[in-house]
Amino acid sequence: MADPVCPPDKCLWSQSTSFCTSLRNANVPLDDKWPTLILYLRGIGNNPLLSQVEKNALQQVMLRLLHLRSYTNETYLATMRQVHSILNSKCEQKLQEIAREAEALAKEVATLLGRQKEHVKTVSEQVEHDIALGLDPKKILTGVRSSLKDLIAKIEQDTLALTELSHKDSLTGLANRRALEVFLEESVAMWQNNTTPVAAIMLDVDNFKRCNDTYGHAVGDLVLQAIAKRLDKVVAMLEGSNTSALAARYGGEEFLLIIRGSQAEAASFVAEQIRLLIETNPVHANLGLQGETTPPVAVTISLGISHLWHGWKNSFETNLLDAADKALYVAKQKGRNRTVAFIPESSTFLPVEPAGIVVYED
Ligand code: GH3
Ligand code: MG
Ligand code: MG
Repeated sequence: MADPVCPPDKCLWSQSTSFCTSLRNANVPLDDKWPTLILYLRGIGNNPLLSQVEKNALQQVMLRLLHLRSYTNETYLATMRQVHSILNSKCEQKLQEIAREAEALAKEVATLLGRQKEHVKTVSEQVEHDIALGLDPKKILTGVRSSLKDLIAKIEQDTLALTELSHKDSLTGLANRRALEVFLEESVAMWQNNTTPVAAIMLDVDNFKRCNDTYGHAVGDLVLQAIAKRLDKVVAMLEGSNTSALAARYGGEEFLLIIRGSQAEAASFVAEQIRLLIETNPVHANLGLQGETTPPVAVTISLGISHLWHGWKNSFETNLLDAADKALYVAKQKGRNRTVAFIPESSTFLPVEPAGIVVYED
């Protein structure tokens, strides 16, 4: 295909002409597919739905491509496969989580339905029994009315329990993403109405894949449950006149803490307490197997913090999570087992100094 030279005022890809020049310098064929792919990889960095890890992985794909300077069909297909795998792995993980949650809910619904069916059966047996005994029909009716009242109260209780369950993550019992979204929306509204500051702490277990590989997935699950329990304790401690918080499982081995009444600086203190708590208390992941000798499992976490900022102007929820995610990414890059805060006002990353107090032990 002939090399289309972009005229200075009308780039073929709606970019500045330097784009065309830099592609030519990198030997990129100036047909439709390669510039389109490179533009796509370049633009994906602004997609707020992607995590920093995913954005960086996609950027690496582009850098590798430009470095190799091999623009064959095979390279094109391999690049597309890499892109799809980066974009899909999180989706697959989320789908698995949703399926797990749906399965747990369905089981619970089946149990509750079974219980209600049993209750109805008992009532009907009681009526048959009373009729056979020739009891006064008025008395029988009173008995049925009272049993039905009990049944309705039980159904109302069960419905409440189910609603609660649908807001919980089935493995850890923490708030799930649905509940997190609601809490976050309410927090943004409170911040806008009465300037209550809101901070987010995003935390991710370090090298968790290795933990699973070493001890098995079931032990990994116990580690996640233990972390959740500790986060719950921290949330309980934050419940006060000026602060309140929600701990949620954000997905996989990532958790999120939303703190109302706190800026990133104050949240840094909380984050460091959580980090120390996990670092200094290995998890006793006992599966209850005979002859089991699993030693306490030591894990560490990395944390990223940020707070709501008016300068974002809109999409505050997404911007807050994105800012905490960026800070978490820097914490991972700096060597893990540490906390980094992103201060949106100055667009700076601040490494948080290790704190010295452990607030809670198992
Ligand atoms: P990093 O320090 O960079 O975060 O490394 P990592 O190994 O923790 O990160 P990576 O994303 O490579 O691996 C995450 C692992 O978490 C892989 C996945 O199997 C595991 N995981 C996600 N959800 C669960 C879960 O519910 N239970 C268990 N046991 N493992 C999980
Ligand atoms: Mg992770
Ligand atoms: Mg991890």
